[in-house]
Amino acid sequence: MDIENNTAILYITGNGFALAKKLNSLYPEANAFKFKPDSLSKFWGKHKSFIFIMAAGIVVRTIAPLIKNKKTDPAVVVLDEKGRFSVSLLSGHLGGANKLAKEIADFLGGQAVITTASDTNNLPAIDLWAKENDLAIENWDTLPEISIRFLNSGELRVYSEVEIKMPEGFLRVNKLSSADMLITSKKNRFTHSPIHPFTQLYLRPKNLIIGIGCNKRTPENEIENAVKDTLAKNNLSFQSIHSIATIDIKGNELGLIASAKKYNLGIKTFTANELNTIKWVSKSDAAFKATGANAVAEPAALLASGADKLLVKKQKQGNVTVAIAELYPFTHSPIHPLGKIFIVGTGPGSIEHITPYARNAIRNSDVIVGYGTYLHLIWELISGKEVVSTGMTQEVDRCKKAVELAMSGKTVSVISGGDPGIYAMAGLVFEILKNCNALSVMRNEIKKSNASRITHHASRIAVEVIPGISALNACAARLGAPLMHDFASISLSDRLTPWDLIEKRLDGAAKADFVIILYNPKSKGRAKHIDRAMEIILKCRKSETPVGIVKGAMREDEKVIISDLKNMLEHDIDMQTTVIIGNSQTFVWDNRMITPRGYEGKLKVARQSGFTEAGK
Ligand code: SAH
Repeated sequence: MDIENNTAILYITGNGFALAKKLNSLYPEANAFKFKPDSLSKFWGKHKSFIFIMAAGIVVRTIAPLIKNKKTDPAVVVLDEKGRFSVSLLSGHLGGANKLAKEIADFLGGQAVITTASDTNNLPAIDLWAKENDLAIENWDTLPEISIRFLNSGELRVYSEVEIKMPEGFLRVNKLSSADMLITSKKNRFTHSPIHPFTQLYLRPKNLIIGIGCNKRTPENEIENAVKDTLAKNNLSFQSIHSIATIDIKGNELGLIASAKKYNLGIKTFTANELNTIKWVSKSDAAFKATGANAVAEPAALLASGADKLLVKKQKQGNVTVAIAELYPFTHSPIHPLGKIFIVGTGPGSIEHITPYARNAIRNSDVIVGYGTYLHLIWELISGKEVVSTGMTQEVDRCKKAVELAMSGKTVSVISGGDPGIYAMAGLVFEILKNCNALSVMRNEIKKSNASRITHHASRIAVEVIPGISALNACAARLGAPLMHDFASISLSDRLTPWDLIEKRLDGAAKADFVIILYNPKSKGRAKHIDRAMEIILKCRKSETPVGIVKGAMREDEKVIISDLKNMLEHDIDMQTTVIIGNSQTFVWDNRMITPRGYEGKLKVARQSGFTEAGK
């Protein structure tokens, strides 16, 4: 785990330690330390946020020499030992201390203490909004003046050259001269103009694609200088660079790789054939001889940007050719994924059986997508969030919706009961994303059509699968230890699998003496599948073979039954039930269903205990 992203919790007293432990369940990835004033400088810089459980005075004195500026300082929150107040002390906006303080207060049932003016006036903080929208602030020194103007009037006039959603209070204006804030990659506006009547804040969208062609072994600094000079000559901001585009063979050029890495920029490459599909660029014989492409910098910039014209035509400087295009449509930079999908497993039913990591993901999501029954089981975690819920059979629609929402920049949790990768939603989400990416092959042909835009976005959604306790874990635990040896899990639902294949698998698993777990054992539409499964298994297994039937494991209405193969159908089995059929060695002891660890397991245990007796 990236240490930079960790939270440090510091305590002094025993009560402080107890509170730190409690906070650890809210932030499982956080590290708790006993506070020693002398060693704080070692931690500083290694953590993104600090939670101090102690008097504010101690904190102020200790961190004072370590504080630098609001762009780099970590979030600092101070808590009293009882957790009644959580005070956002430092880096309220950019560092996230306000958010942290509110989260902690919500969790502990205490009060967050927030003193930043925009929050108390319910206005968005400009720096935070800029960060969230991946806009770089060019002239930080003017931010306080603009913020005060915004606070006093409740209004901020914004001129923007990119499509961007504005929060309440931001007024879009078309006249450059009347704007308080300008969102543009272009520099020749008003900043340096002596006639301009008031200060303006410049935000740089990351919307410039730099097409680069270069000779072999061109050094890093020559490439960097050529790009900087081209930008400067054309009054464009370096901070607006989105990424670099070039021909595939230059993707291995060390100088180019190094300069991209230095500024954390992605490099997108195209084959000569792809570049040659753009006909209206200026052609170069030298480029054609060396690479097979009529030109490199210009078509690469156009292809990567999706634009149909260049912002800056190719400019040659020494070994380097640079051309610039504006990203169309404007989106966030590739280093910050556009949106995020957490595919979360919420376990068998009760909140306690959801991992802290999964809870965190749900808490950090804007939208929750899932099937109503599962959402109902975790309603405490999702209250107040945007929820997209459809019926059981509309999984595909749900996953598509999740992808769509993530593409619009949201963080989405797709909820599955149990584990999301077991008869659930994880595979579906990947299949949908895969289909989006498959479209990218056709990108040149359908350039600018809606599909190509979706592709462009889909490849930049971050996806994380977060495991949960599956029904097989939960039901096995309730029964005892039935899965101690090899097992096969089979779903009796033929909604997505042909029934003859299910029969074949039942037969194979029964013959191979696997313990068999039956998911989806019975529903109204297929009441007899379970009878057929029993028949098939009975052909290879004794009728007294233990069978565990667990309904609603870890839920309020949980029911656990231990039966055997010949009597199992006498019990209530439905869609909330999982059935576990023992192997030839499985036995029942003390109302528990147990499969021995090995086929000679019983014997070994007996021998071992014999040794112990003798050794006494
Ligand atoms: N992803 C889920 C499985 C979804 S398929 C998981 O990993 O558990 C749905 C089937 O799972 C149900 O028909 C039932 O057989 C089983 N199931 C889910 N939750 C259960 C629970 N709490 N108790 C018993 N069986 C359960």
